[in-house]
Amino acid sequence: MADTDLLIEELSTYLKPKDVEHVRVAIEFSRAAHQGQMRQSGDPYISHPIAVARILTPLHIDAQAIIAALLHDVVEDTDTTTEQVAEKFGKPVAELVDGLSKLDRIQFETREDAQAENFRKMLLAMARDVRVILIKLADRLHNMRTLDSMALDKRERIARETMEIYAPIANRLGLNDLHHELEDLSFKHLHPNRYAVLAKALQVARGNRREVVSKILEALRHKLAEFNIQADVTGREKDIYSIYKKMQSKSLAFAEVLDIYGFRVLVNDFASCYVALGVLHGLYKPIPGKFKDYIAIPKVNGYQSLHTTLFGPFGTPIEIQIRTHEMHKIAEAGVASHWLYKTGHDSINDLHKKTHQWLQELLESLSQSSDSSEFLEHLKVDLFPDEVYVFTPKGRILSLPRGATGVDFAYSVHTDIGNRCIAVKVNHELVPLRTELRNGDRVEVITAPHANPNPGWLGYVATSKARSQIRHFLKTMQSGESAQLGERLLNQALNALGVKPQDMDEAHWNKLLRDTGVKTRQDILADIGLGRRLNMVVARQLASIGETVANEMAANPVITIQGTEGMAIQFAQCCRPIPGDPIVGVIKSGQGLLVHTHDCPTLRRGRSSGEQWLDVAWDKNITRPFDVNIKLLVADQRGVLAKVSAAIAEAEANIENINFTHEGEYTGLHFTLEVNNRLHLANIMRGLRKIPEVVRIIRVKNAT
Ligand code: MN
Repeated sequence: MADTDLLIEELSTYLKPKDVEHVRVAIEFSRAAHQGQMRQSGDPYISHPIAVARILTPLHIDAQAIIAALLHDVVEDTDTTTEQVAEKFGKPVAELVDGLSKLDRIQFETREDAQAENFRKMLLAMARDVRVILIKLADRLHNMRTLDSMALDKRERIARETMEIYAPIANRLGLNDLHHELEDLSFKHLHPNRYAVLAKALQVARGNRREVVSKILEALRHKLAEFNIQADVTGREKDIYSIYKKMQSKSLAFAEVLDIYGFRVLVNDFASCYVALGVLHGLYKPIPGKFKDYIAIPKVNGYQSLHTTLFGPFGTPIEIQIRTHEMHKIAEAGVASHWLYKTGHDSINDLHKKTHQWLQELLESLSQSSDSSEFLEHLKVDLFPDEVYVFTPKGRILSLPRGATGVDFAYSVHTDIGNRCIAVKVNHELVPLRTELRNGDRVEVITAPHANPNPGWLGYVATSKARSQIRHFLKTMQSGESAQLGERLLNQALNALGVKPQDMDEAHWNKLLRDTGVKTRQDILADIGLGRRLNMVVARQLASIGETVANEMAANPVITIQGTEGMAIQFAQCCRPIPGDPIVGVIKSGQGLLVHTHDCPTLRRGRSSGEQWLDVAWDKNITRPFDVNIKLLVADQRGVLAKVSAAIAEAEANIENINFTHEGEYTGLHFTLEVNNRLHLANIMRGLRKIPEVVRIIRVKNAT
């Protein structure tokens, strides 16, 4: 009960009575929801959310965030739903609680540094609202303060996660006190023995130096007053983890780390900082190389201060920080300082604007500092995220650009996974490959051994890796298909010369490769398929037959078209040939074989341009459907489209596409239909002619 009263008291110093009343309601709501639950320590559960809220009150955080802190575990750990929270406390509070519950569900598992960095970024990206991060940090701090009651193995995991993930986030957001306490507590649980030894040594040193410290404090105050500088001077003991880090980085024994006390001088304005510095340098000699001007060049998290170390009496080094009250507020509250000292009627809707502004100012002040580029990079990802962070089934985190899909994910895992992927599961549910991934998604790729990339993927992949790998694969596949076509073309030509293709042995081929300077048989065949080499020329070279014989070639070689061809054989879009149509093949350099109907107007126009024409014929066993274009002229009457569609369906054809044009008193209906062959098309047209409104039917062979 006492804690509840303390919380209310603290909130009453800066919240409106109406808001304090809402907080009271939230306390009771949370107490009821957690009724019967206990902390590991044996305390009733409600003590935890109240403690979390109390960690946040020095930041003067708003009522919504305090209420969310009080309710932060109710959705995850009790029967209460987000909807109930929204109903009772409003949507913004429910969104904060929802964000916290989501963060709760992800756990840091691997120990690599890069993964830790990704994890931090993911947390920040998921917690769109800065308040979610602040509440999460407070939650973690209270859990760290009460970690002693947890099982040993859990302690270590939580302490490591805190050291690697949460303490750096607190630091980056400029929350100094939180940062140091999180580090200290993590250190205590990760290295209990080292912590105990240092704590004891510190206690002894404290006793010995108490008098020295108060003397120094007195001397500093006196000197500043002498020069009429208004200043608050305080002494503080450094935290154990900073002392430990100093010992480690400089290989010092504890006795050598003398500056376990720091002094802080707060002054009224910017200029006084430098005046005070000069005055104190006159009191004790400064240690060379120890002065740092974080006012001119602030730290990445916005921290500003002058740091100097002086030779104190009895050889004690004295570390001193000098800053204005204003700078001090930012040093203590970091990102939170904006609403901590907000004035008038600022609403929480301004929070994002303010956060943005804070970061903007930070950026500007950082533009000359050396490590600003690194910070810029983090900033972009952290608070204006243009990346998404997703999990592999094994818990690894991958970072992908925003808009990335399952295909991008597959290629970023491995090229083979990308090339063989056929489906993707996001959070255990099958979704289309093109689905955009979101932060925290768990993604699983399903592959099949003989699957191939689909050219359609190029329309939506977001990563350059996926794009280039898909292109590469298609190109290789195309050359394989071209080589197959090339082989058929070459065999036709050999047959026409009266040479049996199977008689062309290694010796023939090796000679051909030497003569042409091409590396492999495959390359030559692909060249033929793509129209870069003429089949007749290659056939003559291969069979070592002179020009004269070739000219006697009488029979027309006929290539059969099976309808299953992919890249190397294509059906012209202008005339859309269907089985049963007389057809002509045209080889275009670099494009393979293009099949037209023999009466295609486009084909006739190209006749003079020196394309190589080939006689081609349909294979007898084609089963796949082909697209064909037809145009109907119909009297513009209601219901005619329905009649036409019915007649097409009746003839068992699919409609792929329809367009309309106005042609005088008539309407033009332009269909693309899927048909099996010429006979099928004739049946469809017969059915359409029976419709009285249909004036004319034309098969279109010059579509553009
Ligand atoms: Mn909690």
